[in-house]
Amino acid sequence: MNKEERIKVLQDIIKIKSVNDNESEVANYFAELFQKHGIESEKVKYSEGRESLVATYNKGDGKVLGISGHEDVVAAGDESEWKYPPFSAEIDGDKLYGRGSTDMKSGLAALAIAMIEIKEENADINGTLKFMATVGEEVGELGSEQLTKEGYADDLDGLIIGEPTGPALIYTHKGSMNYTIVSRGKSAHSSMPKEGINSIANMNEFVTRANAEMQEVTNKYKNDVLGETAHAITIINGGDQVNSIPAVTTLQGVTAKLK
Ligand SMILES: [Zn+2]
Repeated sequence: MNKEERIKVLQDIIKIKSVNDNESEVANYFAELFQKHGIESEKVKYSEGRESLVATYNKGDGKVLGISGHEDVVAAGDESEWKYPPFSAEIDGDKLYGRGSTDMKSGLAALAIAMIEIKEENADINGTLKFMATVGEEVGELGSEQLTKEGYADDLDGLIIGEPTGPALIYTHKGSMNYTIVSRGKSAHSSMPKEGINSIANMNEFVTRANAEMQEVTNKYKNDVLGETAHAITIINGGDQVNSIPAVTTLQGVTAKLK
């Protein structure tokens, strides 16, 4: 493939809106691309519209190297704040703009292109390359869990994940934990707050304590390679209307943790 063809692959898949769903379009795209270059692939269905893709290139009976990335992207947020529309894959100078241009359609495209080019060059790899594009990485790691359970990873001797890490080889990863907290109070008219229990006020108490607690954890656990534990509260929903004491508030947070 020449440079233009490679960039076109990346643009094509960034234009597919696979925000925690619709990964089948990405799987179809790569299945066709591989087929054009004589590589067979298999779609693995997770649910309607959501498929992972497994493709193998075999040259010699040596070791099996997995190369993997996810087909989904995170939500684009407020699209009006983007310099270019998030699913346009616009190129400006030497930069390509779009949701997934970093995390991680670029990595996924690079892995697929590498496999195709290794085949085309008839490179003497003495082994097998196994490309695995997975669904639902951003929420739940659904595809990688399914492929692992169904045995697709059983024969792997090693695995390269094309996540963005800057120009660095990262060989280990923090664990992570997502959590949800529900604060249940009691609704009342806002003119009589003492009649109710304010779920937002109680959640606020939780936030203050959780942040202090997590700061202690962050200070305690540090690692030369992984850095420190990170914690962030990322979603809060509470209250129904301005003149009513809120009965229910929910919060979600995430930690990338060492312990
Ligand atoms: Zn990613």
